[in-house]
Amino acid sequence: HVLRAPSLSLGGMPWIQWLLLLSTPVLLPAMTFFEGLETPGAFLAVQRQRLGEAELLADRLRAVSLQDARDARTTLKLYDSIIILLGNVARQASLLSNVHPDAPYRAAAEEIEAAADALSDTLDLDPAIFQRLEAMDVGAEDATTQHYVSKTLRAYHLNGVDRDPDTRARVQAVRAELLSASQDFQRNIAQGQREITATLEELGGLPADYVAQKRKTADGRGRVTITTRYPDVKPIFRSADSDALRQRLLQAYEDRAYPENVDVLNRLIAKRYELAGLLGFANYADYVTNRTMIGNAARVAEFTDRIAAAAEARARREYGQLLERKRRDVPGATTVNAWEGSYWTEKVRKEEYQFDVSSLRPYLPFRRVREGVFNVTGTLFQISFRPCPGAAPVWHPSVECHEILDRDQAVVGRFYLDMHPRDGKYTHAAHFGIATGVRGVQLPEACLVCNFPDPATGDGLLEFSDVTTFFHEFGHLLHSTFAGDGPWAGVGGISMERDFVEAPSQMLEEWPRNAQVLQTFARHHQTGAPLPTELVERMRQAEAFGRGLDVLRQMLYARISLTYYDRPAPQVDLDALYRAAWTRSLPQPFRNGSHLPCAFGHLDGYSAVYYTYKWSEVIAKDMFTVFDEKNLLDPVPAMRYKATVLAP
Ligand SMILES: [Zn+2]
Repeated sequence: HVLRAPSLSLGGMPWIQWLLLLSTPVLLPAMTFFEGLETPGAFLAVQRQRLGEAELLADRLRAVSLQDARDARTTLKLYDSIIILLGNVARQASLLSNVHPDAPYRAAAEEIEAAADALSDTLDLDPAIFQRLEAMDVGAEDATTQHYVSKTLRAYHLNGVDRDPDTRARVQAVRAELLSASQDFQRNIAQGQREITATLEELGGLPADYVAQKRKTADGRGRVTITTRYPDVKPIFRSADSDALRQRLLQAYEDRAYPENVDVLNRLIAKRYELAGLLGFANYADYVTNRTMIGNAARVAEFTDRIAAAAEARARREYGQLLERKRRDVPGATTVNAWEGSYWTEKVRKEEYQFDVSSLRPYLPFRRVREGVFNVTGTLFQISFRPCPGAAPVWHPSVECHEILDRDQAVVGRFYLDMHPRDGKYTHAAHFGIATGVRGVQLPEACLVCNFPDPATGDGLLEFSDVTTFFHEFGHLLHSTFAGDGPWAGVGGISMERDFVEAPSQMLEEWPRNAQVLQTFARHHQTGAPLPTELVERMRQAEAFGRGLDVLRQMLYARISLTYYDRPAPQVDLDALYRAAWTRSLPQPFRNGSHLPCAFGHLDGYSAVYYTYKWSEVIAKDMFTVFDEKNLLDPVPAMRYKATVLAP
């Protein structure tokens, strides 16, 4: 069911006007963003009104004289208010287009996202607005404000504001075409989920709770449906003894959004190449890395090669062990295929390290893990959580809304959890921003979208990798929350260099790997017995096996991401570059007929910069050294980390 949100208007006056009229900032605690959830039409009307307010503010900014624009506080306040409005509309629309269960609603959300983007693009290329921002005198302003202004002016140049009118018009047209391609790409993945049929006999080797759940759904001939969603895919690739089942599932899994996304991906690459050219860059990878720490595409290639070289020897050794293990069951085998890698890895972990990946599942029921994430992060960062008061507006009954409170019981943020798979929903795991927090104006809001096993349809037992994913996404959430109490939306929340963004999330993955931390919440779902310490220790040793191959797999993704964007679009052959990146990166043979790039969502959102995961991980490992692994729940270093890294 869907509930109505309180209105954003106060006494009939749009809130943004209140914001601008009031000399002292005022918090709007009742502001809730999902207004208009009753119907797609209502949502369109609400969001269009907000876009209209943003246009009015833009008109006001254009009307400021260049002399008056020198007053940086007033000019920037006006500009930042536009950023807040546009950001709220675009983010809410983007989220709902990815999660709403009703297709007409998702279509309305896409329409609004396109309208918000079009307005953003207009303002980003508007010389009148640029002149007013450039006229600001920031000499007496604080460092944050100066940083905001210099970053914004630089972005205007990069966007092409000083190009001739024809070029600006073309840039804007290409950006609109890009958003449309991006929406097509993501929609095709969400709708491209596949199903295969398996017999109950083929489920041999799988965790008992998983088989029991599937058995309930078997038809009269003992056949069950297997989807390409994570709750099926993860246990099957790791544990199903049937080679044929894993092979069929991998084929279906890599065929998601194929062939639909072949043309879309080519369009995305061509338009991005055109955009880069219009703005004076040799290719899109150079354009997009211009705003990151790494600086340019050549250095991404160099970084990727260096990481791959460091992992190479270990990965070859691991591959040799996998092949050797496989030969004991399959005499004369010469290769470990793509659908076999995880399976033989788990076999080696089980036999050499006495660790069975399925043995953790009974200790990891979804709700207990969720409480664990709340308690662990609550202890570390001195915060607490409670359900949003009243009837929070949600788009599906399984979605939860929570508030975050600080030590003084003040609400400092709000978030939604949309954690289980369903038709039409985003299929990976992600943190979606909803509102960038600005002190005195609006609280930070975000949503975590995941695809974990659902306690409503089974025992809801998680894989350990689901637990690290939960902590990972929660790391993004805490980052956006703690960075949501600054003076400006434009430099608030997660708005720093792209190649830092995955550092807070990847660092938080260290906590569940620690026995002391994991035992605070992992209890057997039937007996209540605590997770044995020695099981965690064996897991940590076993996990180390396969790490070389994991790194190379990450470099495969980084190389696909880079090579699709670091050359002229006409030279991009999707299949040939994918195969070349595979052959360069991995010892396993390439699987003919693999269409993985069509369902590789990061090729849209991350474009050329998938390398940022490894770059950020290096920073995460470095930051983690200030924590004491024997006392990971100590809030002292965590609070220092929050104050010095996350909040500013
Ligand atoms: Zn992440």
